[in-house]
Amino acid sequence: MKTILPLLLAVLLLASSACGRAAGDETPAGELPTPSPTAALDPGNPLAPDQTPPPPAAPADALRFELPTAMEPISAWRPPLYPVPWAPSPYDHFYLERPIAADEVNWPLPNYRYGGVFFSSGQVHTGIDIPAEYGAPVLAAGPGTVVSAGWGLFEDNPASPYGRAVVLRHDFGYQNQPLFTVYAHLSEIDVIPGQWLATGEVLGNVGDSGHTTGPHLHFEVRLGSDQFFSTYNPELWLSPPQGWGVLAGRVMDTNRNLLATYQVFVIAADSGQTWEVRTYGSEAVNSDPYYRENLVISDLPAGLYTVRIFYYGVRKETEIEILPGRVSYFTFQGYLGFAPGPPPTPDPLEALSPAP
Ligand SMILES: [Zn+2]
Repeated sequence: MKTILPLLLAVLLLASSACGRAAGDETPAGELPTPSPTAALDPGNPLAPDQTPPPPAAPADALRFELPTAMEPISAWRPPLYPVPWAPSPYDHFYLERPIAADEVNWPLPNYRYGGVFFSSGQVHTGIDIPAEYGAPVLAAGPGTVVSAGWGLFEDNPASPYGRAVVLRHDFGYQNQPLFTVYAHLSEIDVIPGQWLATGEVLGNVGDSGHTTGPHLHFEVRLGSDQFFSTYNPELWLSPPQGWGVLAGRVMDTNRNLLATYQVFVIAADSGQTWEVRTYGSEAVNSDPYYRENLVISDLPAGLYTVRIFYYGVRKETEIEILPGRVSYFTFQGYLGFAPGPPPTPDPLEALSPAP
């Protein structure tokens, strides 16, 4: 139990900087979700490396509960990333560098990932949120040309939930389709349309423009066309830290229907650290053409994990090994439980359609 409290605190802290709204310009502006009570907390760097609390004083009596003595290892540190393009299998495409430098938090907010649903607003998240400090430089995730830079995407739309945003069309694509990345909620933009950027070049600064409850970078990967409905999970595109890996899963009911926003627990065998992940919401998001996943969690240290799902109250679990630099995969099918191993053969109708 002693590790639960700090994890909850971290989750509350991180929730304070999530996108207020994840929809594209194509959807009408709506009400902002009510910020959580923790929104007043310092958004600067909620997970500073020196977060480990001092050891508690010796208990006055042996029966007293002790405070936790160590922070969950959701720490402000990751190993260096694998060099891009990192493609350990023919199906993988970790082509992108992180859009935030390694001296900042440069990984996704854990409780509002791609496909996540923002509290009660019902908005499905079409990207990831990286809770870097206000003003932190935002970097091109790969080489490419600026196709949009301004308030909103493609048009000067004052109601755009993206705020100040930049879109890059990358020099490379995937499966003959163009690849775009989106950087939103910026405080400043340093580039103009038509400008070419090398990987790592600064294109702007982290901010809180548009609909957001706090400063962070909203980052999207779009494949095929630069449209709201063409996003894919950035956690399958950003190179993982060396020695760490990625877990992808397809979570279905017994009749093989995808389960939306379903709760899944991922538990490290050695430390007991637990990640609570939810499957994608049921709209506006796409699965990878090979993995056909509805759940991804990246940045997992290599090792053994238990994946646990309570299916109508029935506890189902399986053990999965996360391998360095690799994507580990499982399927879950309701009362039939887990089936680890490679993804099912893709349905051609669900595979990516060719570029127009
Ligand atoms: Zn976002």
